[in-house]
Amino acid sequence: MSEKRSNFPLPLSSVTGGTTRKPAAPAPVATPQTATQNARSNQAGPAPGAAKPQAGAQPPQPQQTLARSDLMATEAPRRAMAARVARQGVKDPQVLVALETVPRHLFIEEALSAQAYADVSLPIGHNQTISQPYIVARMIELLKGSGRPLERVLEIGTGCGYQAAVLACVAKEVYSIERIKPLHELAKANLRPLRIANLRLQYGDGMLGLPQVAPFDGIILAAAGLDVPRALLEQMAIGARLVAPVGAQVQHLQRITRTGKSEWTSETLESCHFVPLRPGIA
Ligand code: SAH
Repeated sequence: MSEKRSNFPLPLSSVTGGTTRKPAAPAPVATPQTATQNARSNQAGPAPGAAKPQAGAQPPQPQQTLARSDLMATEAPRRAMAARVARQGVKDPQVLVALETVPRHLFIEEALSAQAYADVSLPIGHNQTISQPYIVARMIELLKGSGRPLERVLEIGTGCGYQAAVLACVAKEVYSIERIKPLHELAKANLRPLRIANLRLQYGDGMLGLPQVAPFDGIILAAAGLDVPRALLEQMAIGARLVAPVGAQVQHLQRITRTGKSEWTSETLESCHFVPLRPGIA
């Protein structure tokens, strides 16, 4: 597979350029789409997403139309954020473009939106956080690593959906599981206006993986366990990679490569700080 720069069915540049899409009446919302607004507008939303990607994404609802002015206003901070992450050591150009493309402020509560492009994790409710842009980029870079194409990728811990959107720019199919129902709903609402056709969200216990879709070419955990669940190791394709924070108070990124039917190798990398991986659903 050739590397894609973006999988958005509607390139965001065309939205910011204002040439491709006419907003549905009424006119697009001029204020930032925020997690809170989205959660509110999603209260009567559809049932949780099914597992298989299908051609064509749900059309955005009028109140969820991306505001062009809003996207343009955040173009410079997005570029600056990607440049900063590059200075911090992330080199993969596709990952940096993805970081520059996804409007992170859409995933953050309005009260915190001034910090949307700072390199910080921020609260998203339910004692969970949106990950730092640097760590999102770093983990995806580690997942890509060898240049093996990322056809099918699984993320454990959707949260507000930000990392899933970034992943969808670099992988052909992305599946993301969240165990907290209101966060799963929030991610759906946040992602809907972006119309990402190659991303499927699943409500459930990510420690069990998604056996009906496996094997995966890459698996990313956005929450830290004391070790990596066996089910996830079993759902890796041979040659695939898994990147996960491992530990409790002290955590490190771990990268696991499946080298054979019953063989895996593991590298322990930099320290990190993630919310805990928990079993079951909430
Ligand atoms: N990916 C997010 C980060 C979310 S924080 C981002 O883009 O910033 C980690 C998330 O992992 C939390 O929402 C938490 O509820 C979820 N989580 C923890 N254990 C889980 C499990 N077993 N299955 C699925 N999600 C889990």
